[in-house]
Amino acid sequence: MANVGDFEMETFDVIVVGLGAMGSATAYTLAKRGARVLGIDANLPHSKLGSSHGPTRATRESYFESPEYVPLARRSNDLWRKLEAESNARLLDIKGALYFAPQNHPLLNGVCLAADQHGLAVEKIDTEEAEQRYPGFSVPDGWQILREPGAGLLQAEACLDAFRDLARRHGAQLRFQSAATRWRQEGGGVVVTVNGEEISAGRLVLTLGPWACDAFASLGLPLKPRRIPVVYFDTKQPKNYDPNDFSVYFWAAPEGFFAGKPHFDNLGTMLLRHDAGDAASPDTIQRVVTDKDRGEVSDFAAKYIPGLNDGIRSAHVCMYTMTPDNHFIVDQHPNMPDVTIATGFSGHGFKFAPIIGQMLADLALNGHTSLPVGFLSIDRFASKQAGAA
Ligand SMILES: Cc1cc2nc3c(=O)[nH]c(=O)nc-3n(C[C@H](O)[C@H](O)[C@H](O)COP(=O)(O)OP(=O)(O)OC[C@H]3O[C@@H](n4cnc5c(N)ncnc54)[C@H](O)[C@@H]3O)c2cc1C
Repeated sequence: MANVGDFEMETFDVIVVGLGAMGSATAYTLAKRGARVLGIDANLPHSKLGSSHGPTRATRESYFESPEYVPLARRSNDLWRKLEAESNARLLDIKGALYFAPQNHPLLNGVCLAADQHGLAVEKIDTEEAEQRYPGFSVPDGWQILREPGAGLLQAEACLDAFRDLARRHGAQLRFQSAATRWRQEGGGVVVTVNGEEISAGRLVLTLGPWACDAFASLGLPLKPRRIPVVYFDTKQPKNYDPNDFSVYFWAAPEGFFAGKPHFDNLGTMLLRHDAGDAASPDTIQRVVTDKDRGEVSDFAAKYIPGLNDGIRSAHVCMYTMTPDNHFIVDQHPNMPDVTIATGFSGHGFKFAPIIGQMLADLALNGHTSLPVGFLSIDRFASKQAGAA
């Protein structure tokens, strides 16, 4: 048996490059299916440089972005529960989502459309009732509130730990602070250069988050990474933002589309703007939160969420990797038959990590999947003629 760097293996069935939410889920799924897996990541396990860091992520089922996501979200929820059982960790708590918007706003119509098509419960709440039930929010007259009971919150860091620990338990080798600088097809497989050393495998999965833009530049994918400031407020009225009352809320206001989470004593109350964010590259992004960042979110809170009134406790920067239609890209590489790609998660991918892991494992091991991935195809943006890398 030859030494491959630190690893006593002749070769791997699959190398997964990028161990954020998507790559970690994929390494776990592949290893559980018996594949010999090497997962590598350029950064440390809980690095704050990509898109998967931070304490929590929301799950939703009445998917306003498109009803096509509903079966994937429901299947993911089942898989999160299985991951909880296998890892013996509490990962998902379901307390529902609140949606605030002017009547007939596309956000509300999108939630109702997804719910109608898939038989999901959605509760309609008028402003008077909302004042009683959710006194921490100041809802303008003529607005409508929807409550989706099936939405929840994932403990994001524990989710990543569960994927990685179980991947290792199923035999995967995971290597951090190891950057893949090149990959090529060779002899019916792939060769990946990692920290200057060449490692071969049958298949390669690339889950590079915002680094995908540069890595796939020759494919002409219209990926746009965006800088997203995340602000945590203190409140003198924590009961109005009780995590037992809701898991997440969304506001489609004239000032922008904002998302927030309940109050946790150890964190504060999170609020971010979901529909904006400066264009940014992961290697040069301004990671320091500015007064302007704080000001935009604070102004919004002062108008609509007045209980977030005891100052800012902390703030950090995260990244979204946007596609023009806000839908993901999950597909085979157009020019490299043994390479599978998943990127462009457009600020709403985390909840789907377990099912994305299944899709990528299917594609890497079998070349196809029975899961509904057609609407996530790379053909929307790139063709085989576009480039070689
Ligand atoms: C503030 C914020 C809030 C969000 N809230 C939600 C939410 O509530 N619900 C939801 O579903 N989604 C949410 N999202 C979106 C979700 O978190 C992302 O879609 C998801 O985490 C993307 O994961 P990823 O694995 O594609 O990317 P990343 O987490 O960025 O992982 C990519 C990894 O690839 C590694 N890498 C890149 N290039 C190389 C290389 N050449 N060699 C080795 N390693 C490499 C990087 O180091 C990185 O670890 C949110 C995102 C943000 C930023």
